Formats: sequence, structure tokens, C-alpha cells
Amino acid sequence: NMAFSMYGGLTMGATAALIVHGKPEQKAMFVPKMVAGEWTGTMNLTEPQCGTDLGLLRTKAAKQSDGSYKITGTKIFISAGEHDFTDNIIHLVLARIEGAPAGIKGVSLFVVPKILVNADGSLGARNGVSCGSIEHKMGIHGNSTCVMNYDGATGWLIGEENKGMQGMFVMMNEARLGVAVQGLAQSEVAYQNAAAYARDRLQGRALTGAQAPDKPADPIIVHPDVRRTLLTIRAFNEAARAMVIWTALKSDVAHRSSDPKDRQEADDHMGLMTPVLKGFLTEIGFANAVQAQQMYGGHGYIAEQGMEQFVRDARIAMIYEGANGIQALDLVGRKLPRDGGRAVMAFFGEVASFAKEQGANEAMKPFITPLSAGLGHLQQATTWLMQNAMMKPDNAGAAATDYMHLFGLVTLGYMWAKMAKVTHDKIAAVGASPYLTTKLVTGRFFMERMLPETSVHLARIQSGSATIMELAAEAF
Ligand SMILES: Cc1cc2nc3c(=O)[nH]c(=O)nc-3n(C[C@H](O)[C@H](O)[C@H](O)COP(=O)(O)OP(=O)(O)OC[C@H]3O[C@@H](n4cnc5c(N)ncnc54)[C@H](O)[C@@H]3O)c2cc1C
Repeated sequence: NMAFSMYGGLTMGATAALIVHGKPEQKAMFVPKMVAGEWTGTMNLTEPQCGTDLGLLRTKAAKQSDGSYKITGTKIFISAGEHDFTDNIIHLVLARIEGAPAGIKGVSLFVVPKILVNADGSLGARNGVSCGSIEHKMGIHGNSTCVMNYDGATGWLIGEENKGMQGMFVMMNEARLGVAVQGLAQSEVAYQNAAAYARDRLQGRALTGAQAPDKPADPIIVHPDVRRTLLTIRAFNEAARAMVIWTALKSDVAHRSSDPKDRQEADDHMGLMTPVLKGFLTEIGFANAVQAQQMYGGHGYIAEQGMEQFVRDARIAMIYEGANGIQALDLVGRKLPRDGGRAVMAFFGEVASFAKEQGANEAMKPFITPLSAGLGHLQQATTWLMQNAMMKPDNAGAAATDYMHLFGLVTLGYMWAKMAKVTHDKIAAVGASPYLTTKLVTGRFFMERMLPETSVHLARIQSGSATIMELAAEAF
């Protein structure tokens, strides 16, 4: 239940920002209750005139003699902004301190509780923040998306003045990974329903003759096109899950390893993969929810079956926490060039050395040959961007979404190759099983039918931005 899980997810993000950037007394006041689930958290960035471009924000913060601030302004689309699940709601709010520079360099982060907290930890007076209205929206109906009005609400600065984005980025990076999982989760639950339905629904006969002659028709799972659809979703889900777990492991290393080199490598990986996970997994997750709905025919369009809810819920994951177009720009514009391309080069090196290691292994050929071709396309695209985007930034903007998909496909191809290796080793050790055979067949499907899309993305990237930028705005 995506809508419900957001209450806890946002609380985790807000807690992370407080732990990393909060002052000791702020941590003591808020974190234990948030971790215990007694209070929830929110993130307040968006305003009517300010979405992607946070430098436009107008919410004001006026410093008080006791060191607190009075926060005034209107935030919109605030998830979990108001509800009565918990006794208190801890809002993390971006605002501009009076006299601060214009743009993103004048934005600070504040913690603003719905109910003020007394020195002994008990709840005190209601703070000057209220819910103006609740949005009516396409999906995630169980989550309250609120207009929040701050009328001189008391807040406290988190971190330093005008450095608000540092704290907010802790929360946003955590939330982006959570949203990536939302995309994958909707794809998975939609798949599980569609696979069960396809085994059950009787329509038509198999092209090669009746498979269930005792029944009025065969189950639709006999039809190649139905199987193609189900395998497309499944082959994505399993590799995307591996990618999420791989990155989760890196997150543990980045936070906990005692070796600074390991920490840095893991941190590089997190920076590089976060926009890919958010943008690619949510985009394909939504497409997969639609494909799974298609397996139900007209019944998928009827609310009673539940499939249309997966489609509606999955849609928002492509939009919030930075729309997917922005994730693609983050990958191309910030994450690729960072530290002289150190993170991307490490990734290319890792995939290439795995391919080389397994190159002579006959059983791995169906995985290594397409993986090497996909990696080649990604490397060509990266070189093309280095040569063509510095002088002409529109080339980067026009390539970004294709590059993100190309990157995602190659990463999933790498995940499949690694899973195939483990599966072959297991079969050699303990013999084949339906589970292990299914794994290899699903992986081969990905390699044969999904990974080759890398060549399309490369061709689009190399076509540049000239045609895209040619028309005048009025011509659209
Ligand atoms: C249900 C829901 C819940 C939300 N929850 C929260 C929340 O809890 N807290 C919060 O602060 N916000 C929240 N949001 C807001 C959400 O994060 C924003 O809607 C989102 O970041 C996009 O901003 P915008 O809607 O203003 O779109 P805009 O910024 O106006 O963007 C419109 C389109 O233009 C594109 N675009 C914009 N700038 C560029 C650029 N420079 N280059 C290329 N393309 C560009 C975008 O990709 C997008 O497709 C929520 C929104 C919804 C609908």
C-alpha cells in the first residue's frame, strides 16, 4: 500500500536529515519519537510558483531574540501534511531568512512541529501551521496531499543559514531511493496479479492446438503474446530488485565501513545510481503496471479488480522527488562529470572486468555477449556526450532521458549476468530445480528482447538536439 507506506517513508527521510544536520537538542527532542513511529515527518519544498526550481521559493523566516524563527508562507502538495494518525507532525521546511540572497543560495532548512514541544518532552500549544486543503488526485488516495499554511509558525534552523539544501538533500536522496522502490513494488504486485489471472482466464486456443481440451478454452497464458508481456515485467522486476539490493549494500558500506577507500567507492556508486534508480525504475514500473493491467483485458479497466489502482498509484512516482526528466539531467549534468568521471569509470571497469572474466565460459555466452554490446553502446554514448555536450548544453538536455534508460538497461543486464553466474554455479553444485531454470530463462529473455534497446537509445542520443530545438514555441 504505497499511500500508507509514505507516512513512514517520509518520517524516515526527515529523521535522516535531523540526524545528519540537526543540533543535539533538536535530535533529542524529535528523533526518538519519530523513530518510534509516535510522530511522523514531512518535507516542505514546493510552493505554487516554485517546483523544480527551488531558487524561486518565497516562504520567509524571521529571526527571533530567542534564536527561533517565525515562518510565514504557503507550501503546496505536502505529502502526509496533516492527519490524525499520530499526536504530532514534524515538518521540515525550506524558507528564506530575511535579507538572505535570492535564488538557491539563500535557502535555509527549519524544523517546525505541528504541536510545540515543552522542555520536558510533553506536548504544548498548537504551532502556527495549518492545513489549508487536501488535494483531490489521480492515485495514492490514502495519503493526504496538503496545502500547508505557515502563519508565523515557530521553527528552528537545521544546519547553517543559507545551506538548507544540504540538509534537504539528505532527505531527498533517501526519499528518491524510496520512490525507486515504489516503482518496482507497483510493478511486482501488478505482475503477481497478472500472472495469476493469466493462468486462470480461459480464452481462445493455443496456436499449436488445445492445451486444455477438457475446458471450453485454454488459459490465456498459452498465448505467446501474453507470455511476452509477463516475461517483460518479470525480467525487469528481478533485475531491478537485484539493483536495489546491490545499492542498499553499498549504502551500508558508505555509512559504516572503516576503510575510507571503500566508503568513497560506495558513496560514488550511490551518487551515480540514485537518479538511475529513481528515474528508470519508476518509469518502467509504471509502464509495467499498465502492461499487467492489459493482461486483464476490459476487466483491468474496472475498479473492482484493483489493477487500475496500481496504474494510478505508480504514476506519481515518476513525478515527485524531482520529475524524471530532472533525474536524467542530474545523471548527465552532475553525476557523470563529478570528480572527473570517477564513479562512471569505476562502473564501466567493474562490468568490463566481469565480462572479461566470464568471456571464456560457454554457458555464460548468452549473457556476456549482449552485456558487452550494451556496455559498448553506453560507453559510446558517454564519449559522445563528453565530445558534444560541453560546448552545446542542449545536446546534454536532449540526450538525458535516453541516456538514463541506456544506463538503466546496462545495469540490469549486469545484474542478470551476475545472477546467471550464481545460478550456473548452483546448478553445478546441487543440480537444476524449477526455480533455478526459471531464473536462467527469465534472464535469457532480458538479454534477447530487452537489452538490445540500448542501440535505439544510442542512435537517439547521437542525433543531437538540432531538430528538437528547431521549432519556435508557437509551432507546438
Ligand atoms: C501527490 C504529490 C505529492 C507530493 N509531495 C510533495 C511533498 O511531500 N513535498 C514537496 O515539497 N513537494 C511534493 N510534491 C511536489 C513535487 O515534488 C513537484 O510537483 C515536482 O517536483 C515537480 O514540480 P512542479 O509540479 O512544480 O513541476 P515543474 O517544476 O513546473 O515542472 C513541469 C515539467 O517541466 C519539466 N522541467 C522543469 N524544469 C526543467 C528543467 N530545468 N529542465 C528540463 N525540464 C524541466 C519537469 O520535468 C516537468 O515535467 C508532491 C506532488 C504531488 C503531485
